[in-house]
Amino acid sequence: MLLKNATVATLDPPRVEKASLRIDGETIVARGPSLAPAAGEEVLDLEGALVLPGFVNAHTHLYSALARGMPGPAEPPKSFVEILEKVWWRLDRALDEESVYLSGLVGAIEAARSGTTVLFDHHASPSFIEGSLATLRRAVEEVGLRSVLCYETTDRNGLGGRDAGVAENRAFLATGRSALTLGMVGAHASFTLADESLDLLAEAVRDSNASLHVHVAEDRADVVDCRARSGTGLVERLERHGLLVRRTLLVHGVHLSGPELLDAQAAGAWVIHCPRSNMNNAVGYAPTAAFERVALGTDGLDSDMLAEARVAFLKMRDAGRVDAFAAAFDMLVGGHRLAAAAFGLPLGRLDAGAPADLVVLDYRPPTPLTEENLAGHVLFGLDRSHVRSTMVAGRLVLRNRKLTTVDEAAVLASARTAAEGVWKRMRDL
Ligand SMILES: [Zn+2]
Repeated sequence: MLLKNATVATLDPPRVEKASLRIDGETIVARGPSLAPAAGEEVLDLEGALVLPGFVNAHTHLYSALARGMPGPAEPPKSFVEILEKVWWRLDRALDEESVYLSGLVGAIEAARSGTTVLFDHHASPSFIEGSLATLRRAVEEVGLRSVLCYETTDRNGLGGRDAGVAENRAFLATGRSALTLGMVGAHASFTLADESLDLLAEAVRDSNASLHVHVAEDRADVVDCRARSGTGLVERLERHGLLVRRTLLVHGVHLSGPELLDAQAAGAWVIHCPRSNMNNAVGYAPTAAFERVALGTDGLDSDMLAEARVAFLKMRDAGRVDAFAAAFDMLVGGHRLAAAAFGLPLGRLDAGAPADLVVLDYRPPTPLTEENLAGHVLFGLDRSHVRSTMVAGRLVLRNRKLTTVDEAAVLASARTAAEGVWKRMRDL
């Protein structure tokens, strides 16, 4: 396939030029100002549309896809921990195999419609643990996206639930990997994990040569709990248990100190910043100035990385940060760096030899679009309504605003029915 007449922009470093891209199989095999079609080649004339690398959502919860519009608790939660207890831990217990599968389909469809091609998911379904990651992989791969999956290990459902969580991570890491899907070891958060549980997770990390995906210091309650449990800070607790390794994903980090963040990142960890979620849960302002190896996550809200980047920018400005513009752009770029490292592929590049993971946007800028001002267009001009087509590994999963891989209307109809069942079970739990 030949994509021609596009403005091709990459973010790391900013580069903007008119170019054609030749796709063969999963890969971009040629790039030039104007490539001539080969015999029998399908030509897609993009008529000046903007092509960017597909976006990366570095922390999400696909299982929350059926939560939209669900009835809230009788009494509004008064704290972060009450939000978990009254909302999310009731929802995840109500999930069964069908609702996990449909959540995966719905979440992946919305990601494709947002130009997001890689999802780092953190999954929980305590009533359906064994086989849940394979179910999620089936859904995400049916839509056609890349993902990095893990199961959220926690003590909150008893030792049986904890052991099943560890086992699910291990089983998926042993057999679940495919061209589009990788595994990690998932953990909820320090405040729901005893020392023994952290040791089990560390063994799984060591045995599988994977890394940990964990919520850290999202709320101050996690910091207070860690002090009481171990007499240390959160980073030190993870480090003592051998859980701070290359590409450990520390999600949120709102209440970590600067020195803790620097230590963690020096050990190879990534910080995943979720500014919209932090606002939604009123957990505070993340110390973004100490975020060096950082990517953006939506924490289950959706997979709209342009919206997340814009809010990251606005929230940093709101907190008085003067270099927020460059910092927010760098956080979006961080997703590509993280995904490239995880998959061992040059994701984020649109040159010959790079995977054909890209998004086509119907974006006609009202002002010049250059390498110097690309960040301004990304943070203030683009939004997901511009997404026309999304390609993953050479396959157009969204083409001219239509899903090519699944019957979207049928999925949404099934999801609405399943959501009613989930909400009813939540009431009865
Ligand atoms: Zn989360």
